[in-house]
Amino acid sequence: MELDKRDFLKAMGGIAALTTAGSAAARSDTQPGGEFELEEFARAYLENDDVLDNRELETLLYQLESEHPELVTVDQFGRSNQGRPLYAVHVGKKKQKNPGVMGIAQQHGDEYFMAEGLLAVAQFLTSGDPRAERILENRSVHLVPRANPDGFVVPHRYNVDPEAPEDDPESGIFQGGSGIFAASEPGVGWDVNRYNRHDWTQHELYQNFPDEYPENPVPEAVAVHELMADVDPEWVIDFHRMGSFMVDYESEWPGPEWARDDTDDDSADEPVGFVPPDPNDPGDGFIGTGAMLWPLHEDVDPEIRELSKQLVVTMRDELIDLDTELRRVEYARYPGGTYGGIARNGHALAGYGSVLVEVAGGTLGDRIFRARQPFDAMLAAAEASADGSLYTVDADRVDELPETGNSVGIEDD
Ligand SMILES: [Zn+2]
Repeated sequence: MELDKRDFLKAMGGIAALTTAGSAAARSDTQPGGEFELEEFARAYLENDDVLDNRELETLLYQLESEHPELVTVDQFGRSNQGRPLYAVHVGKKKQKNPGVMGIAQQHGDEYFMAEGLLAVAQFLTSGDPRAERILENRSVHLVPRANPDGFVVPHRYNVDPEAPEDDPESGIFQGGSGIFAASEPGVGWDVNRYNRHDWTQHELYQNFPDEYPENPVPEAVAVHELMADVDPEWVIDFHRMGSFMVDYESEWPGPEWARDDTDDDSADEPVGFVPPDPNDPGDGFIGTGAMLWPLHEDVDPEIRELSKQLVVTMRDELIDLDTELRRVEYARYPGGTYGGIARNGHALAGYGSVLVEVAGGTLGDRIFRARQPFDAMLAAAEASADGSLYTVDADRVDELPETGNSVGIEDD
């Protein structure tokens, strides 16, 4: 289902209006007018104010709840390591117990515009638009727009924890190593998106340091796991920002081949990770718009993996429709691995459909275009769930995703 651009601008216009609701002067500028006015206002907002700060985000969520109490519940489901509230917004018909679907953004504090995109989803779902109604008739939508508010304030990738150790360079996303994923300096913080093993005893940090870390030391991750257990969503999409990369149509996915760790005799015959594409391959295409990946951990239930692939195909089909004469849009296959602590694998191991969506940074479009991608992706996935079309998608079509070629910007994941 193609989403009309007006849907997004309507949602962003609503957010802009809410943001400035305290200012009489601003309010006079937001009186309902034509579509053009809303677009201009939303665009001016996004261009003049980099991102929503934590307080603005909180205010917008509660205003949405107060305006739509029959649909919206704001849930402070935990606190960050520094004590900032963690918010989820639940949108659904409260008299119906519809299955839930979930979106999470900004586990990495310095990956912007994904929170704004999910907020726009919540806004759109309360708009009374027929498409929103179709979704809410069969699903409830649960959004965590900013999972790492401390890292956002710094700003940096990690949470903020003076007791965090320094990163173990031996710990890699293709294998857990010691399980210490943190900033390069001690006392900075943990990489929240390496601690998504819902069963902590399965995490490498626990297995290597059971006395030091009898429990998951990353409260942001634990709170999300508890929220998921509470909501019990059918699936979760984890939104990130990545560096820029070249799309590579010539390179073929090698399939689920496994690397062999030849540095450790004991595990010489054990698969330790997925072979990523050659990072030095320049690619043959253009600068990509983003990348996606489904869970690769070998213990993921095949049905969960299938559902996750169906989500990837559904969201990519939606996003490449943003292609225009001026801008070529492509979502490639993210070169990620099998590490169980990453949300994509960790949530799938806990029994939820789970997909990583990475929007490339610094390329090909303004902030509205970037925030629009999580908006379009989330709504497409939710709608496909609600109308059942998701379950008829050919999961093997993930093979249509081209590889990512080499990086042409700051690497992140
Ligand atoms: Zn990230």
